[in-house]
Amino acid sequence: MRIRTGFGYDSHRLVTGRPFLLGGIEVPHDKGGMGHSDADVLLHAITDALLGAVALGDIGLHFPDTDPAWKDADSRKLLRHVVELLREKGWTVGNMDCTVVLEQPKLRPHVDAMRSSIAALLDVEVDAVSVKASTNEKMGFVGREEGVVAYAVVLVKEESAGP
Ligand code: MG
Repeated sequence: MRIRTGFGYDSHRLVTGRPFLLGGIEVPHDKGGMGHSDADVLLHAITDALLGAVALGDIGLHFPDTDPAWKDADSRKLLRHVVELLREKGWTVGNMDCTVVLEQPKLRPHVDAMRSSIAALLDVEVDAVSVKASTNEKMGFVGREEGVVAYAVVLVKEESAGP
């Protein structure tokens, strides 16, 4: 069996009048992510981690924000597209770990719903999906609640076809 790891990072501005999508669910908040797509910062970081694990470029290469096809795109669809791309090449997901950095709102009540959502998208058990949250101690753009950041790592594996 071959294994690879991948790392992903994303950030989005937080603005009023947008739903706050995180890990494929909507988190109640008075602000949401601004972006060309639905601005799900966590799914974007996970998507980039998957592409990174197999050295297939990044999310901007596959879904350019200059392409109207991806305007307001559902980030779950982008992630599923990449999961299928990896599967075609023989790779499946082992586990995923991530940290979301933001001041508000508290994510603890939403972590299990995010884990279930992400597990379904990655075709893995919920216990293979970890979602952690951290504040930025009121420092910088995250500290001023101007934006949200997500980091993700994934392990992908390629089972050998046998003898
Ligand atoms: Mg993004």
